[in-house]
Amino acid sequence: MREVIIPKTAITRYGKGVIMHFVKSKYDNCTWNKNFSTWHMLRNRYDNGHRDSQRSKLYEAEHDLIPPADDNSLEFHDVILKLAEVVNDTWFRKKFGRLFSDTELKVEDASARQDMAYALGTDKLSFPPHFCNLPIILHELTHIIVDRLSFVVHFRKKYTCHGRMFAFIYLELVKKYMGSENYTILKSGYKEFNVKYHNRIPQTHANKRVLRERFANNILNNK
Ligand SMILES: [Zn+2]
Repeated sequence: MREVIIPKTAITRYGKGVIMHFVKSKYDNCTWNKNFSTWHMLRNRYDNGHRDSQRSKLYEAEHDLIPPADDNSLEFHDVILKLAEVVNDTWFRKKFGRLFSDTELKVEDASARQDMAYALGTDKLSFPPHFCNLPIILHELTHIIVDRLSFVVHFRKKYTCHGRMFAFIYLELVKKYMGSENYTILKSGYKEFNVKYHNRIPQTHANKRVLRERFANNILNNK
């Protein structure tokens, strides 16, 4: 990797890649208040259980967004530049800054034999050469966001790896950093493969009564 100077991010090399250290930004806390917070925007995007049931649907849905492996691959140092650019961007900081303020992210320059890029826990990403492209960078970064959120907010519901919250954040990042055309591609993919990313619709009282009655009838009918 050639030497690169990245503002607001300290880069240290380690055996298999680099460690990025993101410094504090003045925007890091600005939307985390009770009335309008990133968490507020996400809290009704919970899933039904622990099982990562949307994973393969999400892979199908993003398929058209991802360039062919031999084509358009970025170099590893471009991946680092892109991550720094996104994470230090003001829009990103206003939404997710608190999750990245004065934190480190280890990014592995993986071998070509590894057949996927991945995120591990809150602070590690791994990119083999054929998986160095913007949609995959945003996908893996979304995993880091979702994982870090669980340390900032007390999750009362289930949020799975590729669940509603993941799908929503990923789509937001694609819209912001890949433009409206790609946003439309991913959104259509979600629709085609039935990937859920919207808020759950709150049940009204009348609604709930109907559901209860239906449930009661089912029990009676099954006896
Ligand atoms: Zn994933």
